[in-house]
Amino acid sequence: MRHKIVAGNWKMHGSVAENRALLDAIVPDLAVVRDVDCVVCAPFPYLAQIQARLEGSRVMWGAQNVNDNSHGAFTGEVSTRMLLEFGCKYVIVGHSERRTLFGETDSMVASKLVAALNASLIPIVCLGETLTEREAGATEKVIDRQLSAILNAVQAEALSGVVIAYEPVWAIGTGKTASPEQAQAVHAAIRAQVARQDAAIARTLPILYGGSVKGSNAREVFGMPDIDGGLVGGASLVAKDFVEICRAAQV
Ligand code: PEP
Repeated sequence: MRHKIVAGNWKMHGSVAENRALLDAIVPDLAVVRDVDCVVCAPFPYLAQIQARLEGSRVMWGAQNVNDNSHGAFTGEVSTRMLLEFGCKYVIVGHSERRTLFGETDSMVASKLVAALNASLIPIVCLGETLTEREAGATEKVIDRQLSAILNAVQAEALSGVVIAYEPVWAIGTGKTASPEQAQAVHAAIRAQVARQDAAIARTLPILYGGSVKGSNAREVFGMPDIDGGLVGGASLVAKDFVEICRAAQV
């Protein structure tokens, strides 16, 4: 059986007071969610607060981005070593907002993935097509390109430390979820592409779905055979919704 993961991407939201209220509300409920890694990915300045609150709980945490250099003259950037100092276990890499708003290319995403793996952080690598690409019938081609950049950057065995998130860009923050069948088709294609490199790794690779996952649709989406949990934006900021989504991922 594959590892189930639900990761909340808080994006650029939160405040010390809001984070405290949200964590106080989710931690007791998530303590009894079994067989699912429940993760919150917070903005950098809050990682110390998150670490202090979550250490010793069943909830894990991570960051939303990382630089691929170990240190140096990279103003405004944050290294893997810094994330480790604040207890991060996960880091989101190549989110579509990083790709489209901040110009991250496939090769930059691959370098960040390598840096995360070298630091024993678990990268949650995001792949996904835009609406224009889907409407042009290019979904498979885009995913193949984004995934190939990753597969070419690491040895097959290293993929055992990776989590993939399929996030159709047209479904992120839009309220428009991919249907379970649409998502399953892409997840199966991702797994098949990884299997061509290493069949055993492909069988155990967690592939999360992201794009307007809510309490009301999570169970149906997570019920698909190649969907192993979710990367959740908006709903991860609402305690009741995030808990419901984590519960939906239980086997
Ligand atoms: C995301 O931020 O990765 C995401 C999937 O957002 P939302 O759940 O709000 O669509």
